[in-house]
Amino acid sequence: MTPAHHPAEDLWLDFAAAQVDFATRTLLESHLAYCKSCRTLAADAAAAGALTLREDAPSEAPSSLLAGILARLKTPEQPRVGSEALPLPRALWSLLPDFSAATWRGALTPGFRFLQVLQPGGSGLFLVHMKAGRAFPRHDHTGLERSLILAGGLSTEDGVMEAGDFEQAEPGHVHGPVALPDEDCWLLASLEGGIVFQGWRGMLQRIAGQ
Ligand SMILES: [Zn+2]
Repeated sequence: MTPAHHPAEDLWLDFAAAQVDFATRTLLESHLAYCKSCRTLAADAAAAGALTLREDAPSEAPSSLLAGILARLKTPEQPRVGSEALPLPRALWSLLPDFSAATWRGALTPGFRFLQVLQPGGSGLFLVHMKAGRAFPRHDHTGLERSLILAGGLSTEDGVMEAGDFEQAEPGHVHGPVALPDEDCWLLASLEGGIVFQGWRGMLQRIAGQ
């Protein structure tokens, strides 16, 4: 199925120019595994960037951005956390970061768990698992949030998101996603700030000083 929600075009220009951080690059590369039209955009952006950079040496080959991505697809290893193999699409195995040293964490709601991918600086990157039909409490963001659905889907105030869909939520955007009822939802999310819960969970969060 072709994704319905795509990264903005200027993000592909930043991607091609290596102007995005680790978390954003991982999200964008993962979207490419699902989306033919964005593969074309990314390749065009990379080629345009290569021409700009190489005006002095026009005989050089254009950027091999996509060739590098496709080469890595040839040697996949299924991502694991400890002894647990993650049920993620095979096309993403070699694109995703190393989760092996990460540990699952819970939240204030059953059927929801996440792990933080370790990285030096920049925004945090999280792998999130929601059981089918489970809701994540309504929350606000203190920074930019970008997410990519890897499997299953979510229903939010903004509509339904399914595998391959990319979403960017600006700071201050309040939402409470619910996993679709027939399949567990797996997603990658990057956060530049923290999240702030609404309602009683928000009160607990403020009391706990988190
Ligand atoms: Zn796309």
